[in-house]
Amino acid sequence: MLDVVSRHWGYTSLRPLQEEAIGAVLGGRDSLVVMPTGGGKSLCYQVPALLRGGVTVVVSPLISLMKDQVDGLLACGVPAAQMNSSQSPFELRALERDLDEGKVKLLFVSPERLAMPSFRQTLKKSNVISFAIDEAHCISHWGHDFRPEYRQLRTLHEQFPDASVHAYTATATQQVRHDIAQQLALRDPAVLVGYFDRPNLTYRVLPRVDEVPQLVEVLERHRGEAGIVYCTRRKDVDSLTAALKKRDYNALAYHAGLSQDERKKTQDEFRAERCDIVVATVAFGMGIDRSNVRFIVHMAMPKSVEHYQQETGRSGRDGLEAECVLFYSGADVMLWKSMLERGGEEIEPDPKFLEASIRHLNDINRYASGTTCRHRALVEYFGQKYEPSSCNACDICLGETTDVPDAMVVAQKIVSCVYRLRQQFGAGHVISVLRGENIERIRQRNHDQLSTYGLLKGHSRNEIRDWVYQLVSQGYLLQTSDEYPVLHLTETSSSLMKGEADLRLRQPIVTRKKVEQKASRPSSVADDGPYDRTLFESLRKWRRGEAEEREVPPYVIFSDRTLREIARAQPSTLAALRQVYGVGDAKLEQFGARVIGIVTDSG
Ligand code: ADP
Ligand code: ZN
Repeated sequence: MLDVVSRHWGYTSLRPLQEEAIGAVLGGRDSLVVMPTGGGKSLCYQVPALLRGGVTVVVSPLISLMKDQVDGLLACGVPAAQMNSSQSPFELRALERDLDEGKVKLLFVSPERLAMPSFRQTLKKSNVISFAIDEAHCISHWGHDFRPEYRQLRTLHEQFPDASVHAYTATATQQVRHDIAQQLALRDPAVLVGYFDRPNLTYRVLPRVDEVPQLVEVLERHRGEAGIVYCTRRKDVDSLTAALKKRDYNALAYHAGLSQDERKKTQDEFRAERCDIVVATVAFGMGIDRSNVRFIVHMAMPKSVEHYQQETGRSGRDGLEAECVLFYSGADVMLWKSMLERGGEEIEPDPKFLEASIRHLNDINRYASGTTCRHRALVEYFGQKYEPSSCNACDICLGETTDVPDAMVVAQKIVSCVYRLRQQFGAGHVISVLRGENIERIRQRNHDQLSTYGLLKGHSRNEIRDWVYQLVSQGYLLQTSDEYPVLHLTETSSSLMKGEADLRLRQPIVTRKKVEQKASRPSSVADDGPYDRTLFESLRKWRRGEAEEREVPPYVIFSDRTLREIARAQPSTLAALRQVYGVGDAKLEQFGARVIGIVTDSG
């Protein structure tokens, strides 16, 4: 295994679970492999394909992605091909011949194609030994990317009884996992679940106060680097893109309301590294294979922790550091709820799933307003243990928040206001009463007569809302999940009123020093020490040209991590270059001399 991995990919070791996953394929046992994005799922089916005779059929959901995958494999000297509807009958016949002659080891197809009886007949004539189902959660209704075409995959085992079936996904929930195994009719599968932490990502959650300046602060930390800014609504995408362009950022918009051409242009520009910032709705998602995405910003809360994990997972796939910032307001939940109930731009209302969706919303809301380490919260959400006491890579552990002074008194004021309002009102109203707002809705109900009226005068709505949700997330208050959520007391509310609770409320440090570099460079990043930045930029420039000439995305040539290591090690011989991470035999032969030339010129 290691020999193949080194020869073709230039890696010196396997990642956790890769060996087991490869072993399952080699042994012909069905498998379900769950690893976070960037965990290295593809190697799990690519390595065995090289080690065995026969053809491995890879099902991949997007044609655009498929081409990049095939190009990437070819650049590593792996015999791969794709079959799609744009090929001529002549090309198809040539491909079939290659398959027959064993010249193709990995065949990429779309689920639609694999559903076609004629195609299955063709496959029957080739020696198919296994099927690799990428993004396997697309088969499940419980996942976040359901695709009806995937359902056709359930008959694979019937029609190809001798081939094994392997499912790969980054979706961690039990329900989806179970569904995948069932829908694919997996036979006694080896279930391999990786560790969900992404140590190279730094997570921050900040109350959303003033969108554009807050976003610009993040962008300034990432000059010249790639990132995605997610918005909930299309109109936010449009206005934010315009605002960024006005400030001379190289930003493009992406949402399902744009024409196919416009969307394709954004994709292509981003992929080719001609554009660095994409402002998008979640429609910009799968198929973002650019491995050097250095930041992900959410301008509002996403609709589930799964989505958040999935969307932030698009950063730092090369193992280098990346920053994920979530701008949050307690009002985000309300917007989502109304979109889920009535349908929104990119959401179909689906009453069958409403209850589950609302549960998901409450979970992500609890995460956003929570005060525990973000890495811990995410890992524990997915049912795993988090060992370190501090991650050194989140706003909480980096000390970017501070304790609210007199948290106990603040909390008591909030809880007693919920009590005075007879547990019959939502957060919005409770906040208005606490702030002592002179508004119709309060006067009408005589709530200006309550003893708790105006107890938190002088604090902003955002501030109080943040505290309310922190109390909810710590269990001192409960928010019902009805259509109009109401705040309730809980069993622990009384301990809080007696001052017996061990309570903390956090708030961002307002006069925060500019976040230093260190903060976005967690210690666990697969990266050691400084490198020659000028050389790195020269290498990047060369890579961009090379990629354009070959009509492939730059990462197919070399990843950022490889370029950084070259800029660090500055190899002057081919043998030394071959030792660098990500340089295998095929790439050494194609690019070695050129890279050595650039290194030598720079010195
Ligand atoms: P996933 O499909 O799980 O999101 P990929 O298969 O795209 O992840 O792998 C992410 C990155 O990690 C790729 O650049 C891949 O080549 C690299 N990678 C995978 N396995 C290893 C390994 N054993 N050693 C070093 N890098 C690896
Ligand atoms: Zn932390």
